[in-house]
Parts: sequence; C-alpha cells; structure tokens
Amino acid sequence: MLFSVPENIDIIIISDSNSVFIQHILETHGLYDRIMNIFTNPANFDQDGRLVVTPFTDQETCGICERNLCKGDALKLHLDRMTGARRKYDRVLYVGDGKNDVCPCLKLGKNDVIFARAGYRLEEELKKMQDNNKKIDAEVVIWHDANVIFEHI
Ligand SMILES: [Zn+2]
Repeated sequence: MLFSVPENIDIIIISDSNSVFIQHILETHGLYDRIMNIFTNPANFDQDGRLVVTPFTDQETCGICERNLCKGDALKLHLDRMTGARRKYDRVLYVGDGKNDVCPCLKLGKNDVIFARAGYRLEEELKKMQDNNKKIDAEVVIWHDANVIFEHI
C-alpha cells in the first residue's frame, strides 16, 4: 500500500551518503521538492566525470559519530533553526538503521519516536543500551516495512 506523508510534517534527511546520490534518488521518485533540508556530504562530478565527495563537517566533539558528520548535531542544528523561525514541533519521528543513528536518538525526548529498522545496527545498539539500563527517552518502534511507520504517522 502506498501512503503519502501529510503536508504538515517537515521531512529532513541526515545521511552519511552524499548530495549527488540523495538528490538522484529523490528526483527519480519525484520526492526532492518534498524534503525541507538535507544534511549530507556535498558532492559533484569533476571534469573527468569522477564523483568528488567532501566531508559535511570535521567535528571532534562527538565520539559516537564519524568526524565528517555528527547526525545528532545536524538534527540539533535543524531544530534550532526551526525554533529560530518560530516553528515548534510536537514531536520528532526519527527513522534510521545505522550505528551513526544512535547519537541523534540519544537527543530525542519522551514525545519523540525512533523507528529502528529491524535487523540493522541501530536496532542492535538500542537493544544493547536497554539491556545495560541506559535510558532512551523516546519510544522505540522496530520496523521491517515502511507501512509500520506510516501507520504511526
Ligand atoms: Zn554524534
């Protein structure tokens, strides 16, 4: 079943991929204009047709994320910008699957929801944290099918 995301939901992408790849995928599926912001490694093709990817940032403050992108910082940057624009969110719905999704998940509150893809590293890391009594404030929903996410929306 195909769902569409309601217009009153802002969608951002935080990805350790690159801008060329993400833009291509979004445009192929007619979704590029629906995305409010993309935090990723800038990329372009050079004169020889090679894809040149540069780091989104060079951070050393977060020990969870890679130096080129702290997903938690990117999420906070977006939320701060929206607060500055007087746009307040009722909740954050965070969809992820990688180990680098742990950092932003730790920044979420009790009204927020983490959608962790079943069988992937984020699910494993969240389970380890729960087993070690490390607190996650947000609700955790394991998904194997995007319909699970849309049902929550
Ligand atoms: Zn981080």
